[in-house]
Amino acid sequence: MTYPIITKKRHPHDTWRLADYEQARATFSWGEARTWLSGLPDGRGLNMGFEAVDRHVEAGHGAWEALRCVAADDSVTSVSYAELAADTSRFANVLTTLGTSPQERVFTLLGRRRELYTSVLGTLRARRVLCPLFSAFGPEPVRQRMALGDARVLVTTEALYRRKVEAIRPLLPGLTHVLLVGSVDDPPAGTRVLEDLMAQAAPKFTVPPTDPEDMALLHFTSGTTGRPKGAVHVHDAVVAHHATASFALDLGPRDVYWCTADPGWVTGTSYGIIAPLTHGATLVVDEGEFDVHRWYRILDTQNVAVWYTAPTAIRMLMRATPRGSGSGLPGPYDLSALRFIASVGEPLNPEAVVWGQEVLGLPVHDNWWQTETGAIMIANYASSDIRPGSMGRPLPGVHAAVLERGQDGRAAVVDGHVRPVSRPGVEGELALRPGWPSMFRGYLDDRARYEACFADGWYLTGDLAKRDQDGWYWFVGRADDVIKSAGHLIGPFEVESALMEHPAVAEAGVIGRPDPVVGAVVKAFVSLKPGYEAADALKRELLAFGRQRLGTAVAPREIDFDQNLPKTRSGKVMRRLLRARELGLPEGDLSTLESPA
Ligand code: AMP
Repeated sequence: MTYPIITKKRHPHDTWRLADYEQARATFSWGEARTWLSGLPDGRGLNMGFEAVDRHVEAGHGAWEALRCVAADDSVTSVSYAELAADTSRFANVLTTLGTSPQERVFTLLGRRRELYTSVLGTLRARRVLCPLFSAFGPEPVRQRMALGDARVLVTTEALYRRKVEAIRPLLPGLTHVLLVGSVDDPPAGTRVLEDLMAQAAPKFTVPPTDPEDMALLHFTSGTTGRPKGAVHVHDAVVAHHATASFALDLGPRDVYWCTADPGWVTGTSYGIIAPLTHGATLVVDEGEFDVHRWYRILDTQNVAVWYTAPTAIRMLMRATPRGSGSGLPGPYDLSALRFIASVGEPLNPEAVVWGQEVLGLPVHDNWWQTETGAIMIANYASSDIRPGSMGRPLPGVHAAVLERGQDGRAAVVDGHVRPVSRPGVEGELALRPGWPSMFRGYLDDRARYEACFADGWYLTGDLAKRDQDGWYWFVGRADDVIKSAGHLIGPFEVESALMEHPAVAEAGVIGRPDPVVGAVVKAFVSLKPGYEAADALKRELLAFGRQRLGTAVAPREIDFDQNLPKTRSGKVMRRLLRARELGLPEGDLSTLESPA
């Protein structure tokens, strides 16, 4: 089914921040965007935390509302920019008192709550490096990331510490400080209560000189093989956070803004915390869980103007009130404050765009980016028409292309050169010309993997896309085996490795099985060691084992036994073939298969 273009009718009161896309593309420069921020006083550099907090206070806007925390029982606590400055100053002073040094890593393992914002922004203001973890990770992903990222400080809750960290703590000798937030009944050995430390710390802190190229954020992401990759971002990235939030989310001062992304993922930090605060917006912080009525209630009662969410969430809302059911919203909710809706992280099906228009009164604007790009790169804009199913067009200052593919499905590099596809509509690898401020500066301690991302002056995204004759980009799929489930990127290798630690498992191959709501569910194919029987009880045991090790965000949802896993001659499980067989698709080139399975 093809969906008609959604045309934007311009109203006299429309004052979109990106009013004219073509003109902005022609005139914009990142140098200009840098002038939209304050910079540290006296030319002492650029600091993300300062841009998000201090500059508003210094401009006399300390009374503006920075955070609006909505507790699970719907009670609301407001935090002004001045209070945020005091909180984050105390936290920065705590880091200093503890004896940590600039550029050391502070990890967070927290849900959305006030202390998350205090820790993130206090860390950045103190020129320490922030590494957020997803609280639905199990002990193994937590251990691996803290070990690779050289964690010095961890901020978490007592419950999360006991469930996910206590047992692995001896494996993390560099982790010298664990700070517990919220009510702590009985601090476990080797932990401190953050509130007590904060009470003794001064509420004033001067952001030290910060080189824009100093590391600010470390975000772990997954590849097809090998360990998780720590994408390094520097303070200069805030230039892109700020500009892209204005272009692609239409964000501005005092907008009530709600980003539903989990704080453990890159969107939850860049657009859940930093970008909106640099604009002086008010962040809705939902401390509760997803629930259809709760979400509509928040949009209504908090007067949310700009909403940045994920396709999976939209699809879950769609299930409650399908298009054409005549039911509209599932209750008497007033969404009249809502001005702009965007989503990111996975393909947004055209039906969801149109559903937004019909049921919410506004279309959903898809946009595209990755951990590595650090900011939105391709988007649908408030002022532009929408082609449902398209990710939109590159942002001002971003140059994209679709490159011809080679045998392995990635961009073909011949004698060091790549070739953009010559005709519209032809699939290829999506590539970007480096040069925007939030481009990652490397994978931590892994130069080879970083260098492998580039060819002929292009950054190769690993995504397949096509471009139509008018320059709109359409997502096709991944060029590699990583899995996107509910917007979360999962490396199959990480799941396979964990399963293979179970004594019954000989080998494992992990794929994403397409799912209409969450995009893909993690499915594992497992061969057993001699002496083990492929029984339902073992399947249940392996599923539980996966959940316990990896956490619900990463663990397989389904397991099939297969004593004959297809492998290459070099012995690697062929996930491509597992996927083709699962979906009943053609098996493609089998020349590298070890022996007919
Ligand atoms: P992450 O680094 O975890 O943010 O994941 C980035 C990946 O998510 C991209 O490389 C895409 O595969 C996928 N992705 C992000 N945004 C979109 C989108 N709008 N449409 C389709 N896939 C997307």
